[in-house]
Amino acid sequence: MDDTKCMVCLAKFYLEFTVDESCGKCTPCRIGTKRMLEILERICNGEGSELDIYKLEKLAINIKNASICGLGQSAPNPVLSTIKYFREEYRQHVLEKECKALECKAMAKITIHPEKCKACGLCQKNCPVGAIKGEGRETRVIDQDKCIKCGTCLTTCPFKAIGN
Ligand code: SF4
Ligand code: SF4
Ligand code: SF4
Repeated sequence: MDDTKCMVCLAKFYLEFTVDESCGKCTPCRIGTKRMLEILERICNGEGSELDIYKLEKLAINIKNASICGLGQSAPNPVLSTIKYFREEYRQHVLEKECKALECKAMAKITIHPEKCKACGLCQKNCPVGAIKGEGRETRVIDQDKCIKCGTCLTTCPFKAIGN
């Protein structure tokens, strides 16, 4: 994991695991973690609000306090830690509807930075849906209506000209 990871997705990943692992004996763990996961999914889909961050924190503390075993007591920790250290990233997701890591596909807008593009055409050759326009020495441009946000061009551009 490095600084290109989305912290909201990371929290969601861990919560998916604990939701699966909960034995269901106590309600806060069985139901509360599911509600937390729904909130995180909403945020990653670009439908979150600032109130959701507050709800996550409240639910997390209640689940930790009311669960009877270590799983429920620790399940909300990744959410609490990521909010504590990366609150600004959560706020970007809910207020600006932006995922800088481009992991939340519903919000991602992948663009080519014209000042960095060397017109090599590599991204165009690899785009599975023909969403990249331009010929010869022209700077390439992504057609946002066609782009399915697969992320292939991000990894193929040798000049790091593609981002958000
Ligand atoms: S806290 Fe432990 S005992 Fe309670 S539901 Fe979760 S896994 Fe089961
Ligand atoms: S791969 Fe990069 S440099 Fe080459 S055309 Fe695409 S954006 Fe431009
Ligand atoms: S993200 Fe995928 S679909 Fe969109 S322009 Fe890049 S390669 Fe094409």
